[in-house]
Amino acid sequence: MSTEVTASSVISAEQQTSVSVSAQKEPVQKVNLLGMSRAELEKFFEDMGEKKFRASQVMKWIHQFFVTDFAEMTNISGKLREKLEKICEIKAPEVVHKNYSKDGTRKWVFRVGDGEGSLVETVLIPAEHRSGLRRTLCISSQVGCALDCSFCSTGKQGFQRDLTQAEIIGQLWMANYSYMEDVPVLERERSVTNVVMMGMGEPLLNYDAVLNSMRTMLDDFAYGMSKRRVTLSTSGVVPKIDQMVKDIDVALAISLHAPNDELRNELVPINKKYPLEQLIAACQRYIAKDGNESSRKHVTIEYVMLDGVNDHPEHAQQMIKLLKNLPSKINLIPFNPFPHAPYGRSSRNRIISFQKTLSDAGFVCTIRQTRGDDIDAACGQLVGQVADRTRRAEQWKKKISEKNEILRSQG
Ligand code: SF4
Repeated sequence: MSTEVTASSVISAEQQTSVSVSAQKEPVQKVNLLGMSRAELEKFFEDMGEKKFRASQVMKWIHQFFVTDFAEMTNISGKLREKLEKICEIKAPEVVHKNYSKDGTRKWVFRVGDGEGSLVETVLIPAEHRSGLRRTLCISSQVGCALDCSFCSTGKQGFQRDLTQAEIIGQLWMANYSYMEDVPVLERERSVTNVVMMGMGEPLLNYDAVLNSMRTMLDDFAYGMSKRRVTLSTSGVVPKIDQMVKDIDVALAISLHAPNDELRNELVPINKKYPLEQLIAACQRYIAKDGNESSRKHVTIEYVMLDGVNDHPEHAQQMIKLLKNLPSKINLIPFNPFPHAPYGRSSRNRIISFQKTLSDAGFVCTIRQTRGDDIDAACGQLVGQVADRTRRAEQWKKKISEKNEILRSQG
């Protein structure tokens, strides 16, 4: 992880590299400050022989004013700015595709490495709420995913690697910045109001980077988000749910998708390792830890509606039984089919009657609105489309250059 690098190691690496620069002309590897939590940044400055409070100053410039140039950090001495310029950088992942829908939804595809399969997707969904406009950002935590849920387009791409803290926070940074690009630095504001760690990947399998990123989201010197507005969504990595309960107070969502083990083993294979009984018990421990805290008053249950698979009336009855002792809110998600998906979307009537059964039993049960239909379909699919286009463009370029080669050799 990039943040394991300390200032002293960078400086000595820089000194060493500066010798080799003249000999081998290799560029100095700069440390990216974007992903560092406050504790990490404080240590970084202390290792440089600077005061700890420099960390909160720099964090504000990065995460509240969206500045990437040290020269613009006017409350930092010129000497320190020069020093930072030499050994550090503030670098968000490269945007290879962005799309802003008419309904306000925004999507980005970021390149986080070389070659095919190094793309991740981030989605921002605005919605009017009684407390004002909400802008909810769905953040990815891994490139691809190893868990292979049968209805998920990301799972079909396989697992490539974990995202670094800079790549995770970089998604939130870029979404905020997208509203502020043309605003003078000192007038900039944070626009994203809510975060869900629900994009590509299983966040609890990239635990340290996700934890530190969520700490930055909550930090008053960075995004200062309320703990109720940062949600971690997991498919059910039980030991890590318990770990998270100890380490941070944020909202919890469970990708449930099936009300019995037999069906869930098929749809969400990690269920074979941590079956429903264990998962529900972990959720109860999460609630019990701090039942008075508003972020832990309930667990959100995500349930994708798959036609003829998990949407029968008996499934709704099983849900009622399963969740009877767990304070929960249920979110029904109409399935968004992707090419070669083995499932279809449940009919509107089926979804409404499923909702009614759960509501009549006393659950708060909502149906997720499908948004941004003009720019994309299922989560993870945009990455597939961009990768396809890149692949086709590369094949086309290769063909043209081969043709030119043949023409040249023929004189
Ligand atoms: S639903 Fe989530 S955990 Fe399952 S394969 Fe997709 S990204 Fe991974």
